[in-house]
Amino acid sequence: MSTRSPRLSKSRFVAGLQCQKRLWLDVHRRDLAEAPGPATQRIFDSGHEVGELAHKEFSGGVLIDPPPYEIERALRETDEAIAAGAEVLFEAAFMYDNIFIRVDVLRRNDNGTWDLIEVKSTTKASDTHVADVAVQKYVLQGLGYIVRTAAVMHLNRECRYPDLSNLFVIEPVDDRVSEMWQELQPRVGEFNRLLLQDAAPEIPIGKHCTDPYSCPFIEHCWADVKHPSIFTIPRISKKRIDSLIGQGVTGIVDVPDTFKLSENQRRYVDLFKDGQRQIMWPAISDAFSELDYPLFFLDFETQADPIPRHYGLRPHDQFPFQYSLHILYQDGTLEHTEYLHPDTTDPRRPLMESLIRDLGESGSIVAYNATFEQRVIRDLARIFPEHRRRLNRFLPRFWDLLDIFRNCYFDPSFGGSNSIKKVLPVLVPELSYAALEVQSGDVAQLAWKEMISTADRSKRLELERSLKEYCKLDTLAMVELYRVLAGLLAE
Ligand code: SF4
Repeated sequence: MSTRSPRLSKSRFVAGLQCQKRLWLDVHRRDLAEAPGPATQRIFDSGHEVGELAHKEFSGGVLIDPPPYEIERALRETDEAIAAGAEVLFEAAFMYDNIFIRVDVLRRNDNGTWDLIEVKSTTKASDTHVADVAVQKYVLQGLGYIVRTAAVMHLNRECRYPDLSNLFVIEPVDDRVSEMWQELQPRVGEFNRLLLQDAAPEIPIGKHCTDPYSCPFIEHCWADVKHPSIFTIPRISKKRIDSLIGQGVTGIVDVPDTFKLSENQRRYVDLFKDGQRQIMWPAISDAFSELDYPLFFLDFETQADPIPRHYGLRPHDQFPFQYSLHILYQDGTLEHTEYLHPDTTDPRRPLMESLIRDLGESGSIVAYNATFEQRVIRDLARIFPEHRRRLNRFLPRFWDLLDIFRNCYFDPSFGGSNSIKKVLPVLVPELSYAALEVQSGDVAQLAWKEMISTADRSKRLELERSLKEYCKLDTLAMVELYRVLAGLLAE
């Protein structure tokens, strides 16, 4: 345990609202936390980028720039800047009631009051953001500052590139802060006492482990959870999860037969208890009869930037930068084609032109979760009206392979998931994602960003190869799953 006197902060306070054990572990056993994954890393990176851009909206702001660990210097420089009459401060540092905060933007009003503004890279102010603002207001008011407005400055979904003049919205959240004001002081006291304890509080796992955020201590706290776990039961409520955990049940196979579940949930639980596959061959046969050769197995990789950089995009809009396409002919011939955008220009037109050439006029387009691929095509049709009719003709040709594993083919070996990465090793064990450097869509996004920006030619070639391998495997996996199912159907 650390010998330094532990302090609260904005993020620790919010962690404590999710789970007090998380707060304690965050302070005393950081070593037990999982390293941030690529998705979390992208959120951090975009947060920095958005924060810097937000500062440009306030002219003449003074940046308090000591790093997070130089607390005393940050406090001193904040005092000096305020005493010198700064109108706007960025990252101003304050400490009160053992809570240390850095305020994203603090703006002085003519009457001596202050506006407190928290910058977020999302497109709305969530309850967690409001809690974050509330604790900052608590500190400032405790120090004698009068906060006129407490607000969240977030991205505006109405903004479209190239006009970024309305990129941000400053949304006052005073009413929402007031709603939680009463419980703030007792919570701060409770959390400060908790930090002085020698051991983590005994808090059972539950839905709060993933809501509102996935907790970094899941691996530690869930070590004894049986797999597949009760958390994979479709649409199970927090109340039922808590009730099962209260009975010491974490694995699906241990759910009592008398435990109240919906019909769907009970069917799911029974699948694991029986340990047998359930396959509805007539339904699969019907679905396969809808397919027209040649079969086009299609997968897109997309990027979503908080700050849009290409025509017509809004904050966080997805756009495609890569696709892989396997074409299976009725005689069994298989062809592969692909597109990977090579640079920082807008990928959509060349990708779309390549796609129109490759998809031809007829034949089913097979995707795994086809609504995603269809959405990408609809977005392309909106941006390129001259190709709208051609692109829209692709939509009714889609056929969703995921529907087979969602509705007709259940196997306990899938571990309660119907993701292609879980289904593939069971039905096609010779194909695997394990050896690939890029193994998920999140990593593919990071890899593509690096590929188009690096000046290192060999690095660029390596990333290009990894991205092509990954996307190609996604469509080859569909081909092989289709072949396995078709073979079994034929038997
Ligand atoms: S995994 Fe769950 S119980 Fe453990 S610290 Fe996180 S939220 Fe709390």
